[in-house]
Amino acid sequence: MRVASIIVAAGRGSRAGSAGGVPKQYWPIGGVPMVAHAIDAFAVHPAVGDILVVIHPDDTVRYEAAARPFAGRLRPPVQGGSTRQESVRAGLEALAASAPHRVLIHDAARPFLDAPLIDRVLAGLEAHPAALPCLPVTDTLKRASAGRVTGTVDRRELWRAQTPQGFSYEAILAAHRAAAKEVALGEFTDDAGLAQWFGLEVALVEGSEANRKLTSAEDLAIADGLVQFRGGRKGPVMRVGSGYDVHAFGRGDAVILCGVAIPHHKKLIGHSDADVGLHALTDALLGTLGDGDIGAHFPPSDDRWRGAASELFLKDAARRLAARGGEIVHVDLTFLCEAPRIGPYRDQMRARLAEMLGLELSQVSVKATTNEGLGFIGRGEGIAAMATATVSLP
Ligand code: MG
Repeated sequence: MRVASIIVAAGRGSRAGSAGGVPKQYWPIGGVPMVAHAIDAFAVHPAVGDILVVIHPDDTVRYEAAARPFAGRLRPPVQGGSTRQESVRAGLEALAASAPHRVLIHDAARPFLDAPLIDRVLAGLEAHPAALPCLPVTDTLKRASAGRVTGTVDRRELWRAQTPQGFSYEAILAAHRAAAKEVALGEFTDDAGLAQWFGLEVALVEGSEANRKLTSAEDLAIADGLVQFRGGRKGPVMRVGSGYDVHAFGRGDAVILCGVAIPHHKKLIGHSDADVGLHALTDALLGTLGDGDIGAHFPPSDDRWRGAASELFLKDAARRLAARGGEIVHVDLTFLCEAPRIGPYRDQMRARLAEMLGLELSQVSVKATTNEGLGFIGRGEGIAAMATATVSLP
């Protein structure tokens, strides 16, 4: 049983617009021209022999570039007519010499057909001269007039037709030849409609939700993103960095945590302002870049950082991330101390961090726990902080 496929790529759709004059059949989806996705699906299917693409006369160069990876697997392209119906007939006539038993007619605007769908259409042809992949209508359908709803349409008998539509080659060729002669006919928008007009019985087989028709520029952008996401070809990668710091208490009257001064009967000792939270977070950010730690960039031996506001360290790490094209997705900070109480200042700290890093409040988490009286933290000798930063990098 010889099975041929015809891919119709001759249209000049205006709905998707044209980016730089490139028709939508050749727009890249996941770095590959749309038409090449359909070619690939047929080329790898074991039952499909001849593959023929019907193209627009202006697209010869574009087609050759798109078809290059399939050299030897494709019949020479055929130039389409001014309507879809004429284009399909041109493809059918071009196959006359090889006379396949069955033909699958597909629109290039549906790049996501797959082997199970092709199998179902071919199975439908076992007992019928034509097979149409369809999906039920799930939305409630309304009838309306002049902006007012006038009724609800019974959707139980309604189906969404897709391609590839399968036919007995001889029968669909005869149908197209007859339709071309019939001057009174309007344009058939699909071959199943033409087959039915010719008196062929059309079997209904299950379509595929993934096999949607890409019509608008937005459809193309979504499809492109989907393929890139699946293939992992491009798109951002996520990285998570962690940081830890600890500072001891000394004599004083306030501690500075995340840039917020909290009254306390002690202060934290350090070369800078000893903002243990910002130090841990700075290390977490540097960790996402594999770019050393805070001590490497701002050594305590350097007098420039004596008493410095630690905001400077954090912002430096954020700049390093931005310079690599990265973005912070989320930061999470945990303080470990018996006192002072963090809770009353938590929201103030989150707001300050969001401000320093240019983030939404929802991207910033500040938490605290005691050490249950254990160890140096439990004895109230200092405060420790742990931080996690999640970033996306191109
Ligand atoms: Mg420190």
